Amino acid sequence: MKLFENLPIGTKLLLVLLLISILPLLTVTYGFYRLAKTKLTEQTIHTLDVQAKSILGAIHNYINFKFRHMNGLVRIPQLVRILRANRQNKPHDLSPFTSFFRERLRIDPDFLAMFLLDREGHLILSTDARSGEGYSLRPFFREAMKGRTCVSEPCMDGGVPGIYFSKPVKSKDEILGVVVLQCRAEELWEIIAYENERIGAGNVVILSNSDGVRIARSSRRDLVFKSWAPMRAEIREQILREKRYGTDIKDIEATDIPEVMNVITNVVNNTVSPRHYFSHRLAVGTSTAHSVIRVMDNGWRILCTIPEETFLEPVKSQRSYIFSIAGIMACLIAGASIAIGRLGAKRINIFASISKEIARGNFAREVPFTSGDEIGQLGRTFNFMIASVRRKIEQLKYLNDVAIEVHSHIETERLLQDIANIAKRLINAEIGVLLLLDEGGEEIKHFKVSLPNSSEAVYSEDRPKEEVTPSRTVGAKAMVRSCGFLGMVLTKGLSLRLDNVTNDQYLVSLPANHPPVRTLLGVPVKLDYKVIGGLFLANKVSNERFTLEDEEILFNLSYQAAVAIENAKLFGEVRQLAITDGLTGLLNHKEFQRRLDENIEGSRRYRYPVSLLMIDIDHFKHFNDTYGHQTGDQVLKTVGNVIKEYIRAVDVCARYGGEEFAVILRESDMPPAVALAERIRSTIYAYPFKHDGIRSQLSVSIGIASFPQDAAGAEDLIKKADESLYAAKRTGRNKVCCYRSLPL
Ligand code: GH3
Ligand code: MG
Ligand code: MG
Repeated sequence: MKLFENLPIGTKLLLVLLLISILPLLTVTYGFYRLAKTKLTEQTIHTLDVQAKSILGAIHNYINFKFRHMNGLVRIPQLVRILRANRQNKPHDLSPFTSFFRERLRIDPDFLAMFLLDREGHLILSTDARSGEGYSLRPFFREAMKGRTCVSEPCMDGGVPGIYFSKPVKSKDEILGVVVLQCRAEELWEIIAYENERIGAGNVVILSNSDGVRIARSSRRDLVFKSWAPMRAEIREQILREKRYGTDIKDIEATDIPEVMNVITNVVNNTVSPRHYFSHRLAVGTSTAHSVIRVMDNGWRILCTIPEETFLEPVKSQRSYIFSIAGIMACLIAGASIAIGRLGAKRINIFASISKEIARGNFAREVPFTSGDEIGQLGRTFNFMIASVRRKIEQLKYLNDVAIEVHSHIETERLLQDIANIAKRLINAEIGVLLLLDEGGEEIKHFKVSLPNSSEAVYSEDRPKEEVTPSRTVGAKAMVRSCGFLGMVLTKGLSLRLDNVTNDQYLVSLPANHPPVRTLLGVPVKLDYKVIGGLFLANKVSNERFTLEDEEILFNLSYQAAVAIENAKLFGEVRQLAITDGLTGLLNHKEFQRRLDENIEGSRRYRYPVSLLMIDIDHFKHFNDTYGHQTGDQVLKTVGNVIKEYIRAVDVCARYGGEEFAVILRESDMPPAVALAERIRSTIYAYPFKHDGIRSQLSVSIGIASFPQDAAGAEDLIKKADESLYAAKRTGRNKVCCYRSLPL
């Protein structure tokens, strides 16, 4: 079984096909062969039987014919007279009788001679020249002397093969002698040969006698006596003495049919039915069919026999014909199965090689056959599977790119818009939306929409527009009320897919000219199991539905988005810390330098003036010493807040160091800068600083310089502003000094 399993498909197919086609064919062929053989054997045996009976009839006719003449001869009265005279030893002239008998013999050309024997077997009269002795031993004489008619075995007398017919010559029941008629023996086997040819079945007819000696055979026209069984020496001697068959008996050749003799012998001994058919295998490897029939009382038997290969010739030729067809069929089946097997195996081998390539990472390969059969179907499924894998890989790659892209953003607003855009692009949707909740999860803090180009205007009033509109805070509770779908995602943290969106579910909260919404997909954006927002897609392109796979991809993106948003938030915080002064919350010195460079750069490019205020608290050392550093710190914060209140959003306020502040005024030359400085100074001077219930007064000195009028660059501007501040200190403090008015 293991061996069979390991065989190539073609060989398996071949074996199975051979088994299911050739085996039944051979079985049926063999069955028909057996049937035909049985029928043909029966028919042949029947034919042999008919033939044997026909030959039997012919031999009987032959014998009867001879005896009819014999009877005519025996009734001639002269015979009795001759025999009586011979008995009385009376001399008798026999020549007239001899002539008379010779005349009578002419009635049949097969009659050879006639002779008369006395009771002792002596020859009294003969139509030929014979004068032989020894007839007393011959069976035909002895039989006749017993009062019976007799037909001898064929035998050679004087070189002539003959058969003797004998009959007693009686007078008043007394046997006086025996009259013998010698006939040509050839006549006998001519009858057999003729009858055999007449019936004609390609068989052999054998006439044998009770001694087991063949006396005639259809295929031979000579007289060769052959014993069919080993003959005992004394019997052989007796036969020779009696000259039954002449002077010689040959033993049968080894290739002859000894079994036939057994049958004949058994028939003779009456141990089997006289009519006996049989078939058996011989030493030479052939089978024969036989019919044996008894001829006369003297033990002659007619044996009709035919070799199996002769009478089975038609069926054998058919059998070889059928076997040839079976062989051709086997070859065809083998060829077909090898071809089919090769075809199948070839395609499977292609499968294997393509699978290997795919395993090595070449996902561009596809199986080239997509026919309707099983392997073709497998090919189609395989290609479909590879396409899915390819799509997955592309999505993963894209997700990876997306992750890189998303994580590379540190600016939250752009990041959020990008996430909405990417989600829309990744799943092939028409609209992408990202909602982010505030810390408490109550309000929508960010609302980013990515729209198809044609419908950019629809969010212009109620919703922030893609890329440009800053995030707006929208009431989450109101959103949940008006839009159950969003609410489910945002408040319950569930992923939802809707195929047929109805007005009730979504459209109520949309602007009137919003593109129709057919399908929806929403996943929560979670961080540490907490829902921080939601990603939503509407209308998959080509009217497709959102799939589970889409949901998984979007969920994956939402995870990336959550991390990226958190990172951006943390980064923003860290960056803010890095540029902020910890005590006052103003920009620190380093950031001040950067912003100043930035402003100088902008001023150079766009040709607007920049003014720098350097603000220093007067006698702050003394204040610290009097009220302590903590109170001093409070004062620093308050001064920072006062300055911040007076400046615009585009201006920059920083803690320059210690109790010194710097203010960069964008697009401001000296007069407005002086005015602002004066407002700051007076406000601080009037500010009611309180500590331990005691009110104290503080003042600041402010130095101003402007770019490009006063300085050549950022460093120079600081220097000039510093010089102005020094001038203010030197000239009494609690005052504003500008560089231009300083005495040079
Ligand atoms: P002037 O009018 O000439 O500016 O006199 P001043 O005492 O303010 O000048 P000075 O530069 O001699 O002293 C600055 C003081 O500011 C010294 C220090 O005690 C105080 N100071 C600097 N940084 C801080 C701070 O962060 N917190 C507090 N409480 N005091 C500070
Ligand atoms: Mg100082
Ligand atoms: Mg000071």
